[in-house]
Amino acid sequence: MSETPVIGHYINGEIVAQAERFSDVFNPAEGVVQARVAQATAQTVEQAVAAAKAAFPAWSEQSALRRSRILFRFKELLDQHHEELAALITREHGKVLSDAMGEVTRGIEVVEFACGAPHLAKTSYSDNIGGGIDNWNLRQPLGVCAGITPFNFPVMVPLWMIPMALATGNTFILKPSERDPSASLLLAELLKQAGLPDGVFNVVQGDKVAVDALLQHPDVEAISFVGSTPIAEYIHQEGTRRGKRVQALGGAKNHMIVMPDADLDQAADALIGAGFGSAGERCMAISIAVAVGEVGDALLEKLLPRIDALRVRNGVEADADMGPLVTGQHKAKVEGYITKGVEEGAKLLVDGRNFKVPGAENGFFVGATLFDGVTPEMTIYKEEIFGPVLGIVRVPDFASAVALINAHEFGNGVSCFTRDGGIARAFARTIKVGMVGINVPIPVPMAWHSFGGWKRSLFGDHHAYGEEGLRFYTRYKSVMQRWPDSIAKGAEFSMPTAK
Ligand code: NAD
Repeated sequence: MSETPVIGHYINGEIVAQAERFSDVFNPAEGVVQARVAQATAQTVEQAVAAAKAAFPAWSEQSALRRSRILFRFKELLDQHHEELAALITREHGKVLSDAMGEVTRGIEVVEFACGAPHLAKTSYSDNIGGGIDNWNLRQPLGVCAGITPFNFPVMVPLWMIPMALATGNTFILKPSERDPSASLLLAELLKQAGLPDGVFNVVQGDKVAVDALLQHPDVEAISFVGSTPIAEYIHQEGTRRGKRVQALGGAKNHMIVMPDADLDQAADALIGAGFGSAGERCMAISIAVAVGEVGDALLEKLLPRIDALRVRNGVEADADMGPLVTGQHKAKVEGYITKGVEEGAKLLVDGRNFKVPGAENGFFVGATLFDGVTPEMTIYKEEIFGPVLGIVRVPDFASAVALINAHEFGNGVSCFTRDGGIARAFARTIKVGMVGINVPIPVPMAWHSFGGWKRSLFGDHHAYGEEGLRFYTRYKSVMQRWPDSIAKGAEFSMPTAK
């Protein structure tokens, strides 16, 4: 029998595979352990921070253009390894290959954006604000930054952070999800091939032990976190308490309003893709359809045959629409929510529990699930399920739909399907959610906008990537300067004002 492969850390340009603890990495479509990943101790984190700290002075003093050129080569290498990265994602996460390809593309887009850092980091200058004084601004790197990422986007989410942090002159430590860690090492290898000096980018694999060591380390200046809300809140509290800059993106419960004037075929297609794509393991997945007025029954008629036609398979198969969940534990959790929904009185129209895929009977599959008659008091309405479970809430009018969504504790993404410009405008202006789609089910902003939710979907002041990312990874400084020939004699005791 061949030995189970070991996935290690990446510190100062080297793979470090020895560890005291390991955790299993599954192939979710087959339901088997395919690798073991090292779990960092505080000592491992110490080594990574020391490497990143030592690399910082030289990297931050590089010209922005030189840093961008390395990122440009990294982008070319990502293009060349696009399929390999996608295959790694499918093998450990389980999402279908076409979806994994899309994930890599969305990550590459942030690298492309970050290549423009010399222009983006340009600041403003005011000539002669008075008395021969000029005033300008600098955006300077923070130092050692860390990123802690979730299992559901093992390439895209790290690439929300890495290019922005590196382009602005920081050094970086990635702590990927222990459930699908392999892609992080390929990213590290490609960065090295692109010419990134050792120590500028490091990977520590692991769990809470590694995260706590990063949180507690005095030389870690900033932490970007993406994951579930309880952990996001913990990271934000613990990080800011220690004076670190923290952006912590959390969980979600995304609604899609279907107005009576919507094109119902389009709305149903959108719900199927956004509800069941990636088996619902997306923070931008739609998990609640809000059917307005009399639209509920007609919408159901459109949804049921589409669910029936879904091809749930091993994600490596070319025609698969939906793959398995990431682990057996997560499958059990999602099935538990379905049982809870039934117990709490929701009407289970399609039951994805005990779902078997021929030829992949041990895989962690849950079939597409549909509930009608979901109400705001139910657990399946209130909590994030993170699986292929779509619920329908029926409301009488648009105002009730908006009130329902605004009362939810999460505010990540939202969508409204309508043909009415007035409704669309009112929706965009009054909804208390960070990312809004109008006839767009998954409104993930492009790399030059910024990604982030409201309420308990984001803790901290900055959204991810785009201009917000640039601000997060830089410290603002304002400089005032004058030269001796414009300095008047004598001390001034009054508050300086522009003269
Ligand atoms: P998770 O919170 O379990 O894990 C995220 C990261 O935190 C991982 O690296 C994990 O190792 C670490 N972690 C886990 N438990 C920890 C603990 N007790 N202390 C410290 N660190 C800990 O999330 P997940 O299951 O990997 O990912 C799914 C979640 O992420 C969902 O809630 C989803 O909505 C959310 N998510 C949010 C966004 C967003 O942009 N808002 C994007 C993707 C995923």
